Amino acid sequence: MAWSLRQWRRERALARSRVDDELWAGSLARFGFARNLGGAEVDRLRELVTLFLDDKDFTAAGGLELSDEMRLDVALQACILILNLDVESYRGWSEIIVYPDEFFPGHTHTDEAGVVHHDPGPMAGEAWLQGPVVLSWADVARSGADDGVNVVIHEFAHKLDMLNGDANGFPPLHKGMNRAAWSRTFEVAYRDFCERVDAGQHTQIDPYASESPGEFFAVLSEAFFEIPGAVIHLYPDVYEQLRQFYRQDPIERHGARTQWRSRS
Ligand SMILES: [Zn+2]
Repeated sequence: MAWSLRQWRRERALARSRVDDELWAGSLARFGFARNLGGAEVDRLRELVTLFLDDKDFTAAGGLELSDEMRLDVALQACILILNLDVESYRGWSEIIVYPDEFFPGHTHTDEAGVVHHDPGPMAGEAWLQGPVVLSWADVARSGADDGVNVVIHEFAHKLDMLNGDANGFPPLHKGMNRAAWSRTFEVAYRDFCERVDAGQHTQIDPYASESPGEFFAVLSEAFFEIPGAVIHLYPDVYEQLRQFYRQDPIERHGARTQWRSRS
């Protein structure tokens, strides 16, 4: 009974928020990580995107006009993360706020010593615990360049991380994944990455990843989908953990695993 009610709701949402064929083809073609998906994966992604668009409320801020195409681009990038995860992964919140450009959040936070800080901005994106995702459209529009910088993937990786509390780089792992292995792998890689950034060493990974373990997870997620070769080259163990976590293998999908293995 419960199943059939859920199924009915799902079917209703799929019918109500049907994605236009032409817009869908355009959006798929814009993002490198979507270009090599198999037919069944494309079908699943489209279904997830349709349910996502039915579930989430988009709010245009700062005078922005949001088109169906823009909403679709956000939804597609958000849903690539959960292609093989629970469709309920983005549950418990509903709003996506989009500004025309970088924004000043204007909020404050209190640190452990009780000191109040004003978050200065400007920001390209922000994900609130059990609250909205906020995005700068200028930054969303720049994503899809396959350069490892993707604000939508970044913020939605934080959302997955927040399924068990603060975005600290330790999301809830799947059955069969090893928590100790995850911690050890990410700690070692994070320390190494901070040392490289401090030494002024350039890697393909955005140096912002050195900000905190939570940012490291979000930035490495961007890289995993857009420049997976750079991740497996620099941190093969992190790649393996992310492959298990996202239940996707972007390198396998590109048919380039041997190429990267032989280089490293
Ligand atoms: Zn972040």
